[in-house]
Amino acid sequence: MSDYVKSPISGRTMNRPLLISSLIRNADRYFGDVQVVSRLEDGSIHHYTYSDCHRRARQLANALAGLGLTIGDRVATLGWNNYRHLEAYFAIPGSGLVLNTINPRLHVDQIAYIADHAEAKCVLFDLAFLKQAETIAGECPSATHFVAMCDPSQMPEKTGIPNLICFEDFLAAASDDYEWPEFDETAASALCYTSGTTGNPKGALYSHRSTMIHSYAEVMPDAFNISSRDTIMPVVPMYHANAWGLPYASALAGAKLVLPGPMMDGESLYELIEGEGVTFSAGVPTVWNGLLDHIKENGLGFSTFKRMNIGGSACPTAMMKAFREVHGVDVIHAWGMTEMSPMGTICTLQARHADLPEEDRQKLRETQGHPVFGIDMLLLDDQGVELPWDGKTTGNLFVKGPWVIDSYFKDAEGSALQDGWLPTGDVVTISPQGYIKITDRSKDIIKSGGEWISSIEVENVAQLHPDVQQAACIGIPHPKWSERPVLVVIARSGATIDKADVLAFLDGKIAKWWMPDDVRFVETIDLGPTGKVLKNKLRDRFTDGDAISKHNSPAPDALEQNHAIRK
Ligand code: ADP
Repeated sequence: MSDYVKSPISGRTMNRPLLISSLIRNADRYFGDVQVVSRLEDGSIHHYTYSDCHRRARQLANALAGLGLTIGDRVATLGWNNYRHLEAYFAIPGSGLVLNTINPRLHVDQIAYIADHAEAKCVLFDLAFLKQAETIAGECPSATHFVAMCDPSQMPEKTGIPNLICFEDFLAAASDDYEWPEFDETAASALCYTSGTTGNPKGALYSHRSTMIHSYAEVMPDAFNISSRDTIMPVVPMYHANAWGLPYASALAGAKLVLPGPMMDGESLYELIEGEGVTFSAGVPTVWNGLLDHIKENGLGFSTFKRMNIGGSACPTAMMKAFREVHGVDVIHAWGMTEMSPMGTICTLQARHADLPEEDRQKLRETQGHPVFGIDMLLLDDQGVELPWDGKTTGNLFVKGPWVIDSYFKDAEGSALQDGWLPTGDVVTISPQGYIKITDRSKDIIKSGGEWISSIEVENVAQLHPDVQQAACIGIPHPKWSERPVLVVIARSGATIDKADVLAFLDGKIAKWWMPDDVRFVETIDLGPTGKVLKNKLRDRFTDGDAISKHNSPAPDALEQNHAIRK
């Protein structure tokens, strides 16, 4: 619905609906022999082509129709990145059903909550997620059909799911004679829930139109720069924000697709990258440490791998430099949200940056980048006053665009917006040229003496220390300053570092009053289901009443002075 002005004269172009089925039709018609490669649960590698994928997607569409599912019905998936999940990506929305990808790493209560909230009628699942599917079967009255994505020989003998269907039998019994229906492009295509680090997950419901425009935008050179000459390996899971749109963008461009399944360890990823000639990959920062360690320990290099997109949380500078300077892989930083399908900003450098000193170019690469054409941005303070784009002033980021949601599933239309803009919950600066730098999520921000400390910046610098494997900076309540930063560190195995080493390393690299009051060493840091640090858990772990007093916190006078210097 819109209240846009209506012109008395319309353009005379065909009003063809933008539908997801056109992507797999295109991939089959023009790139039918291009490979789709999948790592399966048993570690083996499966190869087939876009033509095979299209044929089986048509069979799946027929089979789902045979269950009595009709346009608008939700079909849930619990799946790894593999070819059967890809077939579901095309068959479900292509036939007018809604693809509800559920993150199997969530707690089973949340999985059941999502399937129930989505009113999923059918659930397709990989065998590794049998337990999660059984929970849905027990708790969601709407879900009456369950399909195990496996061969007949792999069907579980005992399960709590009545009438469990085998995916391969399901397909074998269905004809591949299927015409993709035409319907309004505003029809819902996919329902992805945010991971719910606070409260219950919320559903972002995309349309065919929003997904298609997102796909066109994603392949652009200053976005993901995807072409038929690429081999794309989405490491970002297909259960997370449509795998950042990569399966659809790859089919649009006719790029070879490599789906890594459950094996995210460095050795397995490396084997696929070299074995399949991967040119481009994308994923959250945490997954890439394993790959870096593997190539370092074994003295390996890359022969085809040229670019990778890292987003979802801030990419540590050390990781960016290791890939770029040591291994020749260009790391492109990106920012987005499930609510944005998820692409928001991407950090490619422009002609105007060509002559900058390398140090300044690197500083730019560390920002989250420039909005992809289609996304508009607004920077406001807490009172709603517009702030300047000067690269220094920090404020709340709001966005607009054709692939940005206006409300969560089942909420009132437009209810997620404020004056037509979606609040992102991210705190950023924006440069005059439109490059954003995320300083924090609003819920993770550290406020000391009324001033913001960027936890991301502190972590970034700490992670440049050669003995620091991972660092997370959190705000701990403080009687005088309201909060003070504490740095939680995982040391590299075999390293012997202590608090004094870390503080000495930070000294001079960040503002004095940003210096953590304490450094705590831990074996593990809790990660959420999408690989992000759960700062709320860390805060609970370290807010023990005496977290600040126990250690050698800087003398209050020094802090006073430092705050004063800052002002
Ligand atoms: P959630 O984690 O809330 O379930 P998303 O996976 O959609 O949902 O995460 C979106 C959020 O992730 C953004 O609002 C932002 O806080 C964070 N994020 C995404 N990309 C980056 C990045 N490159 N740098 C820092 N933060 C990022």
